[in-house]
Amino acid sequence: MIARFVQWERAQAVLAEGVTKASIWLEGGLQIDLRVLPEDVFGNLLQHFTGSREHNIQLRELAIRKGLRVSENGILNLESGENLTCRTEDEVYAALGLPYIVPEMRLGIGELEAAASGTLPEPVSLQDLRGDFHMHSTWSDGVGSLEEMIAAAAARGYAYHSISDHSWGRTGAGLDPARLRAQRAEVRALGEKHGIRTLCSAEVDIRADGTLDYDESVLEELDIVVASVHDAMNISREAMTARLLRVCENPFVTIVGHPTGRHVDSFPGYEFDYDVVFAAAARTGTALEIDGQPVRLDLPSGLARRARSFDVTFSLDSDAHAIDHLANVEYAVGQARRAWVTRDEVLNTRPLEGVLAFVAEKRARFAGKGTG
Ligand SMILES: [Zn+2]
Ligand SMILES: [Zn+2]
Repeated sequence: MIARFVQWERAQAVLAEGVTKASIWLEGGLQIDLRVLPEDVFGNLLQHFTGSREHNIQLRELAIRKGLRVSENGILNLESGENLTCRTEDEVYAALGLPYIVPEMRLGIGELEAAASGTLPEPVSLQDLRGDFHMHSTWSDGVGSLEEMIAAAAARGYAYHSISDHSWGRTGAGLDPARLRAQRAEVRALGEKHGIRTLCSAEVDIRADGTLDYDESVLEELDIVVASVHDAMNISREAMTARLLRVCENPFVTIVGHPTGRHVDSFPGYEFDYDVVFAAAARTGTALEIDGQPVRLDLPSGLARRARSFDVTFSLDSDAHAIDHLANVEYAVGQARRAWVTRDEVLNTRPLEGVLAFVAEKRARFAGKGTG
């Protein structure tokens, strides 16, 4: 098996080759390691090579305190010399007196202590999602037609979803209020045709001063409002904090889209006072998005975890611009799981009535106060 692996035609270079292990480099710089061990230790091996280095160091330290040594070859009892082999990862954790810890939570950020004390939460899973609030069609800058996007959302088994094309400020690609109303008429009918509740939404630009790109009269006709920063990112930290605060205090904003604006490869995100905005989001009943586009993953897991400490509600969305991108919601779920976000903390795990109640509650809370 090792010989075949290293001779694979896609291997650019062989980094190591031994009796039980080998490493190759693929074109594009991806490294693949192969380990060949007896089936009895598959759980040990899988655990050893999954999760972060920090998690595994902490796990080995915990084991040592119990007189055990953990490796890919088993769990060695240092006193008796007995080696426990595990076919599954569950057995590895059980042997150390712990419940199973999912790979996304193996970050070395306190999960072992929480697991040991029985307080590690069960993270949200893809199956918990009943819908997706953020996707685009050819009406703005998407490449899937309205009907294709609706049919694809229905095919994923969702109970509801919303079409959130860009507001008109988005250079050249967005919808003016008249076009948005025209779209709304189509959206409802197409949703019914495909057996899914299609909510009317828009991804509305947040202007530099924190006001939105549509008037209140337009916003109040929408079921869900996703508000996002797409430009004027070079303002001061204070101004950005004030901008996002004002968005949270807007009664019509349901979700703040990709809240930090980061691009994984090229931009760390604009600066603002996270704690002030997270507290405001929680206080006002504004959900913060975890955007699943691979270039965004925004909120990133570290900040999602921090937001979680403020009791923020999250929305896990694909931000799909094509039908295939709907599956990107899985990456949003991944970030949420790394942040220990549970099902109850996610807006789009709720039944439709729960979602509509979330929207209505915020509007009612601010009724008569004006949007400022
Ligand atoms: Zn956006
Ligand atoms: Zn978008």
